[in-house]
Amino acid sequence: MPKSINPATGDVIEDFAEHGDEAIERALENAAIAYRDWRRTSFGRRSDLLVRTADVLERRKEELGRIATLEMGKRLKEAVAEVEKCATACRFYAEHGEAMIADEERPGPAARNYVAYLPIGPVLAVMPWNFPYWQCFRFIAPALMAGNVGLLKHASNVSQCALEIEKVLIEADAPQGVFQTLLISSKKVEPILRDRRIRAATLTGSEGAGSAVAATAGSEIKTTVLELGGSDPFIVMPSADLAKAVEVGVTARMQNNGQSCIAAKRFIVHEAVYDEYTARYREKLDAMQVGDPMDPATDLGPVAMKSGVDDLTDQIDRSVAAGARLTTGGAMDGKGFYFRPSMLEDVGEAAPAYREELFGPCAIFFKAADIDAAIDLANDSDFGLGGSVWTNEKSEIERFVRELDTGGTHVNRMTASDPRLPFGGVKRSGYGRELSREGIHAFMNAKTVTVD
Ligand code: NDP
Repeated sequence: MPKSINPATGDVIEDFAEHGDEAIERALENAAIAYRDWRRTSFGRRSDLLVRTADVLERRKEELGRIATLEMGKRLKEAVAEVEKCATACRFYAEHGEAMIADEERPGPAARNYVAYLPIGPVLAVMPWNFPYWQCFRFIAPALMAGNVGLLKHASNVSQCALEIEKVLIEADAPQGVFQTLLISSKKVEPILRDRRIRAATLTGSEGAGSAVAATAGSEIKTTVLELGGSDPFIVMPSADLAKAVEVGVTARMQNNGQSCIAAKRFIVHEAVYDEYTARYREKLDAMQVGDPMDPATDLGPVAMKSGVDDLTDQIDRSVAAGARLTTGGAMDGKGFYFRPSMLEDVGEAAPAYREELFGPCAIFFKAADIDAAIDLANDSDFGLGGSVWTNEKSEIERFVRELDTGGTHVNRMTASDPRLPFGGVKRSGYGRELSREGIHAFMNAKTVTVD
């Protein structure tokens, strides 16, 4: 049963009743009916809905932010900024969506040849709790602009956010069925995905969930986009602005209380600056104030679930047993799911932290002798989401851009998503792209039209 627990205290906020089979059937039928009309709406009408949605998000950002902070523990400031970012994505597609999916004239055998980009139907979105609004709106905005309709299965610990997202769309006057939230367990995803009214699925979450959903979708010949885990490298070379690389490196790891797929997780530091970099980094971590995510003075709030503390503790313990050193941080006693900002050094190949994603506030450090070693280390991962490189040498930048096996490389800045640019990964971080032009095309039928 979906249950919301306040990570700052461990107290249960609310138990939610799951939607039963009848409600699921009604939602599927509503989606199918809504799609028949929505696919025929003008770009102007779709764009107006997204603008109204952005207005509602902006008006309610404080209230929605508080709900996210209560349910999953992110700092209020970050939660409010997340809601603002959702509004930005809605405005982006409202303004630019039409041009991205306008008919495209092509050379061809007929008098007129063109590609018409058409919607494909109801899409199921399976979403995680870590950015409980953003993950959903970066799907919703392009999907609705494309003429598709959406059904959301959100993570079981953020049902309030899930219901609020549906309310935002209703307040923005979305036609019935264009976007619906289902409160269901992950077991219900398979039958829904097999339903012929659902045409595709997008999932953000763990590899296990991604692989289960993609397997079902594959057996039904349905498209999927997967945004999965990451263990992004953050590479610091000797020519880097070290002070900035430390400051941004701390934010890149500790943002969202350490629970971001694109957080900098593996710090690969050139041996010439390793000692200085790690000393300065440790100093910053030790100065961070850990506590109540509602308090503006807090630098690091709790992780979202008790299992998050337990998993991270276990990964660190096993890594230390394999020779790594925890040079600051560790779990905290008391109420709530708190974990001190942590550093793991001397992480050898035998340590679980070398390969596993650490989904909490712990940075791991590697020393690299040169750029070849840095690139080899960075690519020695099953993941390939994003990555940040810090150098002022042109030739090094070029090598990192060409040779890092990741969906993004960000030079002298941290990895972050932006509606104007595509977002996604390679290897076990998933496939397909969200946001930008690529994101809206993910769930469209590029129809070939020839006319004589
Ligand atoms: P999960 O994969 O457990 O949950 C994500 C969503 O998938 C939830 O809605 C969950 O539902 C659902 N789900 C879980 N198992 C299945 C299944 N077998 N079939 C269908 N649906 C399922 O992820 P976490 O909660 O652990 O989230 C953190 C993970 O997500 C990390 O690995 C992180 O890196 C990744 N992530 C990736 C992002 C990206 O953009 N690439 C962004 C954010 C996170 P329920 O809650 O009911 O189990």
